[in-house]
Amino acid sequence: MDHEPFIDVAANLVAAIDKITKAQAAYTAVRSALGDSKSAIDVTLVAVSKRQPDARIDSAIDAGHRVFGENRVQEAQARWAARRDGLPDLTLHLIGPLQTNKVADAVALFDVIEVVDRPKLAYALAAEMAAQNRHLECYIQVNTGEESQKAGILPNDADAFIALCRDDIGLDVVGLMCIPPIDEEAALHFALLQTIARRNGLSRLSMGMSGDFEEAIAFGATSVRVGSAIFGARQP
Ligand SMILES: *Cc1c(COP(=O)(O)O)cnc(C)c1O
Repeated sequence: MDHEPFIDVAANLVAAIDKITKAQAAYTAVRSALGDSKSAIDVTLVAVSKRQPDARIDSAIDAGHRVFGENRVQEAQARWAARRDGLPDLTLHLIGPLQTNKVADAVALFDVIEVVDRPKLAYALAAEMAAQNRHLECYIQVNTGEESQKAGILPNDADAFIALCRDDIGLDVVGLMCIPPIDEEAALHFALLQTIARRNGLSRLSMGMSGDFEEAIAFGATSVRVGSAIFGARQP
């Protein structure tokens, strides 16, 4: 593309981090007023770089950002395989649906898999991680809105699936992830995800995007996935 509008990625990152810091401080203050001393968890900003021009991604890297999210394995390979070499502290999150035939490539490229949502995928990931000796952090994706077109384990099946992944398959399950339905109050879904995480002893929650990440933090998000608020509109 010839004439992409200029997006001040560095300034957008500063603004997003400022909002995160404030939302986190508010959450921590309320939790501690409620007597919850374990509430001071840092919130990770996953900058979602899918379908963004290279120049904007390089701006984020130049600004010192090192945590990125992608939703397609092949697109992520094209964008990050070469960049990785010069960035030893890069952390790449897979946040989009993963087919089992892409598991080997995903395990080779990514550091965190946020989309574990079915036994077949969980087994394939564990086998591939063993084969590559790369033991990635995993989130279980929960389909909190029970939407038929959306990935994720159904809420009623979540406890058993978490136990399967953690205890039987041996994945390093660190938390839960959700993408609320676009036409519903996101807070209800954030609260549901937090409830499922707590009763399963999971401390991390990946939830909240450009439009609602501060609200997600108010419901205990420890990781927010922010794309357009940092990089501007995506390419079609
Ligand atoms: C694209 C995407 C995001 C980022 O969305 P924005 O609204 O641009 O912040 C977050 N999470 C997932 C799973 C995505 O696919």
